[in-house]
Amino acid sequence: MTLQVTRRQFFKLGAAGMATSSMAMMGFAPDAAQASIRHFKLTGAKITRNICTYCSVGCGMLLYSRGDGSINSTDDIYHVEGDPDHPVSRGSLCPKGAGVLDFIKSESRLSHPEVREPGSSEWKRISWDDALDRIARHMKDDRDANFETHDENGNLVNRWLSTGFLAASATTNETAYLTHKIVRNLGILSFDNQARV
Ligand code: SF4
Repeated sequence: MTLQVTRRQFFKLGAAGMATSSMAMMGFAPDAAQASIRHFKLTGAKITRNICTYCSVGCGMLLYSRGDGSINSTDDIYHVEGDPDHPVSRGSLCPKGAGVLDFIKSESRLSHPEVREPGSSEWKRISWDDALDRIARHMKDDRDANFETHDENGNLVNRWLSTGFLAASATTNETAYLTHKIVRNLGILSFDNQARV
C-alpha cells in the first residue's frame, strides 16, 4: 500500500520536522534526539586521550580530530570534552579546561623550540634534537662549574644551586616520580611545577 500525501500535507510535514529539530537544539527534545546529532558530529573522529594543560588537578580530556595521517590530509582537533573514564575528573572540565580548543588553535601558541643567543634580541627556531643537545650541554657545563660538595662549614651537601628545573603538572605519577629522581640526583634544589605559576 502506498501512502498518499498531497503537496500541502508534504509541506506541513516538512515544517513539523524542522520545528522538531529546532526544539531539539533548544533542549526540549528527548535525550535520544540530541544524542543522535552529537553522534554524527563525532562520527569518524580520531580520539586521543590527554590531560588538561592548565592546572594541577590534571583533568582527563578526549581530543577529537580529523585527518588520517595520509599525505594530503591535515590533522585538526575540532572538539574537546572531559574523559568519563579518567579517575580524577570523571568527565568533568572547568570552564578554563572546557575552552582549551582556543588555546590549541591560538596563533600565538608556541609549537616548536626557539633560542635567543647571548647578545641577540631575535628568537630563532631550532629542531628538538638541537634544543635537547643545547640543554644537555648547558646543564653539564654549569653543573661542572658550580656543583658544591660541602658548604662553608664543611658539611656534606652535594648541591647544584645555579640551575633550576620547572616540570609540568600534566604527567602521570610515574613520570613525576622519575622526574623528581633525576632532578634530585643531579643535586638541583630549585625545583617547581608549572601548576603553581
Ligand atoms: S579542567 Fe580546569 S580544573 Fe581541570 S586541570 Fe584543567 S584547569 Fe584544572
